[in-house]
Amino acid sequence: MTHARTALIAGGGIAGPAAAMALQKAGIDSVVYEAHATSAEGTGVFLTVAANGVDALRTLGADQPAVAAGFPTTAIIVWSGTGKRLGAAAVSMTLADGTTGYTLKRADLYKAMHDQATSRGIRIEHGKRLAAAETISGRVRARFTDRTEATGDILIGCDGTHSTVRRIIDPNAPAPDYAGLINLGGYVRGVRVDADPGTYHMIFGKRAFFGYALAPDNEVWWFANVPEPEEPARGSLASISTSQWQQRLTSLFAGDAGPATRLIRATAHDLAASPVHTMPRLPTWHTDRMIVIGDAAHAPSPTSGQGASLAIEDAVQLGKCLRDLPGPDRAFATFEQLRRPRAERVIKQAARVNNNKAATGAARVFRDLMMPVMMPVYVRFIANGKPGKQLYGHHIDWDTPTPRIQQ
Ligand SMILES: Cc1cc2nc3c(=O)[nH]c(=O)nc-3n(C[C@H](O)[C@H](O)[C@H](O)COP(=O)(O)OP(=O)(O)OC[C@H]3O[C@@H](n4cnc5c(N)ncnc54)[C@H](O)[C@@H]3O)c2cc1C
Repeated sequence: MTHARTALIAGGGIAGPAAAMALQKAGIDSVVYEAHATSAEGTGVFLTVAANGVDALRTLGADQPAVAAGFPTTAIIVWSGTGKRLGAAAVSMTLADGTTGYTLKRADLYKAMHDQATSRGIRIEHGKRLAAAETISGRVRARFTDRTEATGDILIGCDGTHSTVRRIIDPNAPAPDYAGLINLGGYVRGVRVDADPGTYHMIFGKRAFFGYALAPDNEVWWFANVPEPEEPARGSLASISTSQWQQRLTSLFAGDAGPATRLIRATAHDLAASPVHTMPRLPTWHTDRMIVIGDAAHAPSPTSGQGASLAIEDAVQLGKCLRDLPGPDRAFATFEQLRRPRAERVIKQAARVNNNKAATGAARVFRDLMMPVMMPVYVRFIANGKPGKQLYGHHIDWDTPTPRIQQ
């Protein structure tokens, strides 16, 4: 099979524009098809791009514009709902060359990725929701819900947790897992918090989890994870008004130490809540002409702080594989072998933290007792030890040829 020369990319979030830039570096033309009418629609609150994500962006020459809208976040302090400091750790370890993690509004990261791609001549078409795709005579024909079609040598599914490409590749693919948590958050000015800029404060409250960070311009960015054992019906959260959320959240955090209730009450914009889903293990990532990457292949929970970074790493690795290996089938198989173990390790670690966030009753008391003991161990052996180095220090060297792995 010959090298792919053209690619269709479904999804213009983070993985999509990153993949288009990586493919361009590899000499492959692509068009990105994004379902939404604009790039930053419905993109939730904020996220961190960890040092490894910044490093992967740098390989694409896109790190500076992407992180410019955010601020470095280098530490995390963990509290119990009673106000006891449970521990502290470096977050997104700072690498020897000074590369560190950044917190950004999701919409700003989307916009930066979009602008970077289009400034390089990459076409991003909006309002194009992929509905179906098939391989005919070694080429992929994609159909969109607006009844238009497009053809390319390969299709790359960058269409997120509820991916359509995943189901086209494998109609029996598992659905994403619901993590038992609802996520929402906001931005507040004029409320004083006892925090240094760039440090996350995470509070394992009695009934829900609360996190906040102070931005350098004194805006406080906060989020809450609310345990909700039953998965809400799709779209049902949209009918809950901002004042209903404010009431519910202030009553959930009423008994906890910390600024949660003050920040929630002072939030002046609309609150949009979303259920947390993960895609822990997808058996099939690709056919010989179609592949999923980013959240479509392996969505970790937001707790990992790694979803965006893994998506960008995927894009770089896929570009390299397509450049170096003879034909998309070999490139896709090698990509999966290189990426699957790393993605699944991150997902497992985050799932453990999610269980702590959803803990109630005796499990919560046990967690609060164990956390001060476990945090130093975590800091020494995981955050600052070999696992931390493997996670945050991961570097994909664009210039080194991809090894031909036995398949
Ligand atoms: C509230 C929240 C907080 C998070 N916090 C963090 C964090 O701190 N750190 C971190 O690294 N990650 C975090 N994440 C995860 C991170 O946002 C994702 O891992 C990351 O966005 C994955 O990028 P992606 O491009 O694979 O998918 P997405 O960013 O979800 O992009 C998918 C795109 O595909 C489009 N699309 C969907 N279906 C179709 C279709 N059929 N046709 C065409 N287009 C389609 C969507 O509109 C979307 O633009 C968080 C996620 C959420 C929801």
